[in-house]
Amino acid sequence: MRIVVLAGGIGGARFLRGLKAAAPGDEITVIGNTGDDIHLFGLKVCPDLDTVMYTLGGGIHEEQGWGRAAETWSVKEELKAYGVGPDWFGLGDRDFATHIVRTQMLAAGYPLSAVTEALCARWQPGVRLIPMSDDRVETHVLIEDGEGRRAVHFQEYWVRLHAEVQAQAILPVGAEDAKPAPGVLEAIAEADVVLFPPSNPVVSIGTILAVPGVRQALAEADAPVVGLSPIVGGAPVRGMADKVLAAVGVESTAGAVARHYGPGLLDGWLVDTADAAAVPAVEEAGIACRAVPLMMTDVEATAAMARAALALAEEVRG
Ligand code: GDP
Ligand code: CA
Repeated sequence: MRIVVLAGGIGGARFLRGLKAAAPGDEITVIGNTGDDIHLFGLKVCPDLDTVMYTLGGGIHEEQGWGRAAETWSVKEELKAYGVGPDWFGLGDRDFATHIVRTQMLAAGYPLSAVTEALCARWQPGVRLIPMSDDRVETHVLIEDGEGRRAVHFQEYWVRLHAEVQAQAILPVGAEDAKPAPGVLEAIAEADVVLFPPSNPVVSIGTILAVPGVRQALAEADAPVVGLSPIVGGAPVRGMADKVLAAVGVESTAGAVARHYGPGLLDGWLVDTADAAAVPAVEEAGIACRAVPLMMTDVEATAAMARAALALAEEVRG
């Protein structure tokens, strides 16, 4: 079976680890969010692609969920000694090597999709990882604070400002002119199942959907599209998805996120057992919905979530 997954960082990567365990013989293509990408110290950093690659390739810092295991921070300390910032973004020595290789290949003329494939040749993630686009897309967040009304890079909003300032709008800068990377639309068209892991609906999956052609390809695909809620019991399990959901006028509930995607996109939706009361309203909106445990506490619990998603996909298949 051909499974396509639209993924952000931590939520997407952890789900993929469970999916791989649940569907070992299947061909998994991951369309990764690149709206979080940022240029730092002259280097191109792709946090979500790297989180997927490191997690599935066994190089992730497990507790943290991002960055490399057994990381050291000499380069960061040296930069600081020169007074060169920003110092709020954590780039460790091992991680730096990935960004150096990526930047060097991009400078040599390779598109990001080819660079990602080359990086994955080392990590062997066991999935085909494709960036959503080879074109530059950067999510910016419109905020208003003591320094006035301004747009900041998503990483500055999230990592430096800890999403404490209210987000007024989320702007995927460059998305409207971006083309899907080679293989993205083909993978969706040829998929047997499309899954939305419990990734951020606005700044991870929402950004992938903002690349022209992707939403339409999903709507036209034969494959059922099934998503899993990142919101459990009225709050994100981890991170600050509630802040960016508020910015797009969506309540932080499992049901509201399903209705935000809508029946034109989603055929099925899984909510956590804590949110079982949300099932009827989602079904009334035209999306098949089931309540199952959705906490990715370990690989087996996550594999059970993946099996539930695949089972729902079979149920709704036309
Ligand atoms: P990011 O790019 O690193 O922020 O990662 P994603 O966008 O892929 O995923 C972030 C989302 O994962 C957050 O909104 C969390 O609520 C969600 N998440 C993290 N752990 C879990 C979990 O165990 N269960 C569920 N249902 N969602 C989770
Ligand atoms: Ca991300």
